[in-house]
Amino acid sequence: MHGIGTPIRELDQGEEAVWVTVEQFEDVLDAVARRSDVRITFDDGNSSDVEIALPHLLKRRLTAQFFIPAGLLGMPGRLDTDGVWELVRAGMSIGSHGWAHRDWRRLVPGQEHAEYVEAHRVLEEIAGKPVFEVSVPFGSYDRHVLRRLRENRVVRVYTSDGGRARPDSPLQARTSLPSTVDSAWISRVVEGVPSLPRRARQIAARTVKRLRG
Ligand SMILES: [Zn+2]
Repeated sequence: MHGIGTPIRELDQGEEAVWVTVEQFEDVLDAVARRSDVRITFDDGNSSDVEIALPHLLKRRLTAQFFIPAGLLGMPGRLDTDGVWELVRAGMSIGSHGWAHRDWRRLVPGQEHAEYVEAHRVLEEIAGKPVFEVSVPFGSYDRHVLRRLRENRVVRVYTSDGGRARPDSPLQARTSLPSTVDSAWISRVVEGVPSLPRRARQIAARTVKRLRG
C-alpha cells in the first residue's frame, strides 16, 4: 500500500495509480482482517501512514510493516521522526525503502552509501532496533542490487512482483493496491486464489528479475 486519503503534496509520476481513498483502504483492511496469511506493508513513508493507516490498523488489531525512505523524513506530506517513532511504539515494524526513492538499478557509485547504509542507520536510530528488511523502490531490482543488499546485511527484500510469498523466502513478492481497488479486486486478490496461468507468469517474471544484470 502507498498513500491514503487526500494527497497533501504534489504526487510523483505514477503515484496516483496506487493512491487510495480511506473507504477503499477500510474495505481492504476488513477483508485482510479475516485472513491470517495476508500481510500488510506500506511504502514511501507518506504522512497518511501514521495519520490514517495506523488508527485503522489498531482498531482492527492488525499490524503492518512500514518501509520508509529515510532521506525524505520531514518533507511535506511525508512522515517525520516522531511519526516513525509513533508507528514503532504502536507495535508496527519498520523497514528501509532506501534514502531518496531512487531506482536502485540506476544508482551512481556515490549514491550507494546513502541508499544502503545511511538509510538503515537513521531508521535504526529512531526505532531503537536493527533494520534488516527493505522494500525495493519502484520494484526495480536485479542480481547486482540483491548482492549489494546482502553485503549490507539485508536478510529480506520485498518486491512488487505480485502473487503469494513463501514466509521463509528472502525475496517477498507483494501486490500493490491500485487506486481502482473495488470489491471485485478484493475478492480476486485478497480472498481468491490466482489462476494457474497468472501464477506461472508471476513466477517467470521473478526469475528474470533475480538473474538479470
Ligand atoms: Zn516507493
